[in-house]
Amino acid sequence: MLLIRIVAIQTEVAEAVRASLRAPVYGFPAHAEVATDAAPCRHCLRTFVVGQDRRILFTYNRFTGVEPLPQPGPVYVHADACPRYLEDAGFPEELRGSPRTVEAYAHGRRLLAQEYVADGKFEPVIENLLAHPGTDYLQVNSTTAGCFTFRIERAAAK
Ligand SMILES: [Zn+2]
Repeated sequence: MLLIRIVAIQTEVAEAVRASLRAPVYGFPAHAEVATDAAPCRHCLRTFVVGQDRRILFTYNRFTGVEPLPQPGPVYVHADACPRYLEDAGFPEELRGSPRTVEAYAHGRRLLAQEYVADGKFEPVIENLLAHPGTDYLQVNSTTAGCFTFRIERAAAK
């Protein structure tokens, strides 16, 4: 079994964006709208219900918490409160059906390898990239839109 942590954006970030309608750190205006596609919320990692869910688009540094150098890009969260995705819940099932790029990084924001997954079989790719001794963490991004989705870290054995 894979010992991984699924690291969605922190609840404090989502709550700050909802309260201020501005991007954390950057201060850029955030945009609230009714979902027009089934992109994922980066906090609960569930996909939006088109025409129903309200979401906020904002600028987020995808290396928050792991690197001193940033790389900002656009992400969505639900406009209303949602539960943060549980770190020990494994790969999010709602995201299995969309093409994702899994990137292996070493500290220092050094990209070591990337794999394009379009068949939903993420676990072997994650296992393979984490088996590389130089890998410190993985990022999962949208292959088609390029946006950051979540981070994967190794979990400590229980
Ligand atoms: Zn959400």
